[in-house]
Amino acid sequence: MGQFEITFLGTTAGVPTKYRNHASLYVKYQSEREFVCLLDCGEGTQKQIFSSGLNFMRVSDIFISHWHADHFAGLLGLIETMNLEKRQEELRIYGPEAKKFVPILLSLGYSTKDFPIKAINVEHEGTEIQTLIDNEEYSVTAVPMKHGVPAVAYAIKEKDKIKIDKEKAKLLGLPESGPIFKKLKDNGMIVFKEKEVLLEDISFIQLGKKIVYSGDTLPNKNIVKISKDADLLIHDSTFFSEDKQEKWRHTTHSEVFDIAEKANVKRLILTHISRRYQDVKELEDKIKHVKNATLAKDFMRVIV
Ligand SMILES: [Zn+2]
Repeated sequence: MGQFEITFLGTTAGVPTKYRNHASLYVKYQSEREFVCLLDCGEGTQKQIFSSGLNFMRVSDIFISHWHADHFAGLLGLIETMNLEKRQEELRIYGPEAKKFVPILLSLGYSTKDFPIKAINVEHEGTEIQTLIDNEEYSVTAVPMKHGVPAVAYAIKEKDKIKIDKEKAKLLGLPESGPIFKKLKDNGMIVFKEKEVLLEDISFIQLGKKIVYSGDTLPNKNIVKISKDADLLIHDSTFFSEDKQEKWRHTTHSEVFDIAEKANVKRLILTHISRRYQDVKELEDKIKHVKNATLAKDFMRVIV
């Protein structure tokens, strides 16, 4: 199976701090081919990419959760640098109302862009999960969130794979490898030494890994739906208090725990942390009772 490597480029909420930059995640999925994307692109994202030792030229797709500046203000500088570095490949920018905002951004200043940039709208109303990318290796999907402005969450999922159970194959006298396994996968059955062998009798499904990013949101049913059985959920946890006034348009840590439990996620990372919380220890104490929950930090790298 492939591997996700996720680097947290920014983990603060609306205002940056000495230790936390604005929201952005650099996601590299490595399988037979490589897929590199950004989830959000807050101010300073390109600097954070440099500081992480990552390569911004490899980014083919940028997924914006919503058009608040702390999630997109890094686009202009990043695109400018890609242009200066003579990028040729197309860059795709997804987001709710992307076709409205991307042309405005690109029209600012006197710079010309010498590579194609495509804006792709993401549905931001309703309960349907929308497929944005779908190929043999992985898919990227999105679903509307609840943040007072058009907002979405994104999921990147590796495709499930049919695997041959070598022990079962051996018991039937099949060779260890060879073209018959491709034929078996393609046709669902083969005739081997005058006996019928069914794919389902000697195979199992290896589930693909899934990572989900909420962007900014109030708790809602859609995030539970898209996060179902995810290997990793990265969720807005701006506040760590149950004061109703405070959690306006965002989620608190205990609400995130509830979402993660309902969705049966394996691992949870809380991000988009308000600048009011300077004491990391205090926050870690509040989440330590939940196994598999971690507090995001800038430059943290996670392998799934
Ligand atoms: Zn935000």
